[in-house]
Amino acid sequence: MVRVRFAPSPTGFLHVGGARTALFNFLFARKEKGRFVLRIEDTDLERSEREYEEKLMDSLRWLGLMWDEGPDVGGDFGPYRQSERVEIYRKYAEMLVKEGKAYYVYAYPEEIEEIREKLLSEGKPPHYSQDMFEEYDTPERRREYEEKGLSPAVFFKMPRKDYTLNDVVKGEVVFRKGSIGDFVIMRSNGLPTYNFACVVDDMLMEITHVIRGDDHLSNTLRQLAIYEAFERKPPVFAHVSTILGPDGKKLSKRHGATSVEAFREMGYLSEAVVNYLALLGWSHPEGKEILSMEELIASFSLDRLSPNPAIFDPQKLKWMNGYY
Ligand code: GLU
Repeated sequence: MVRVRFAPSPTGFLHVGGARTALFNFLFARKEKGRFVLRIEDTDLERSEREYEEKLMDSLRWLGLMWDEGPDVGGDFGPYRQSERVEIYRKYAEMLVKEGKAYYVYAYPEEIEEIREKLLSEGKPPHYSQDMFEEYDTPERRREYEEKGLSPAVFFKMPRKDYTLNDVVKGEVVFRKGSIGDFVIMRSNGLPTYNFACVVDDMLMEITHVIRGDDHLSNTLRQLAIYEAFERKPPVFAHVSTILGPDGKKLSKRHGATSVEAFREMGYLSEAVVNYLALLGWSHPEGKEILSMEELIASFSLDRLSPNPAIFDPQKLKWMNGYY
């Protein structure tokens, strides 16, 4: 069964890019009679806010993109929240340490930064490896960590080999050996990093297809290596192209209103917004432009996702809204 997820970080309103990702996942799940999971990636405590989480869910509901499962919150589904799953990530990180695929690091963040700067000053790539941290693992340091209530960070041993991704949209992407070094999967505050939490959850939630923005391509290399460490087959990946503004630059605040919330406040109809978002990087097999949610579901397929950047054109959204 197809299982997909939308995994926003609650650090702001749902904007065009995120809404499009959610929509593609939703359409694919409905088309394939699969499940659409909502997962809130809120382990970056400084940037995550509950208020944004509410707003994100509000925007999804308004667009009609209801998710299919999650913890029961009184008859309705809540989202999965990574902040409530920290024990799980810790357990999985420990498994990797036991198997020698990850290791504890007792160096403080400043010391890790110093190592990085030293490597750079020697003209070397800033790639960490286990031997660089050994001198910090002393009985005194362990005691300090205990007294301060810190956990050692956990670093993943990145295998020095090529990785090949067969992406539905991008085609074959080869990540060359040695392009990155070992990386953090658990921080000393006990929280997981994005790449690790994401893979553990995608595995446990049995996600079959990951449809997300292509700004995540370099993360995918790390994620492929983590799947391999757990001896699990990675999901199918579809990295959708970047959305540009009418001026050809990456869509941002400079381009005016870009959040679903803003369109809603301006009086746009949700049907028009959904129709418009669907055509940002996807096209109907017969080139139809006015499509209801039912038609979108019936005609959606991943092979019509375009590898080229999509242009966000507020005029066209306006035109579409007028049509509805
Ligand atoms: N929390 C990530 C983001 O909002 C999720 C990326 C992903 O889908 O894996 O960009």
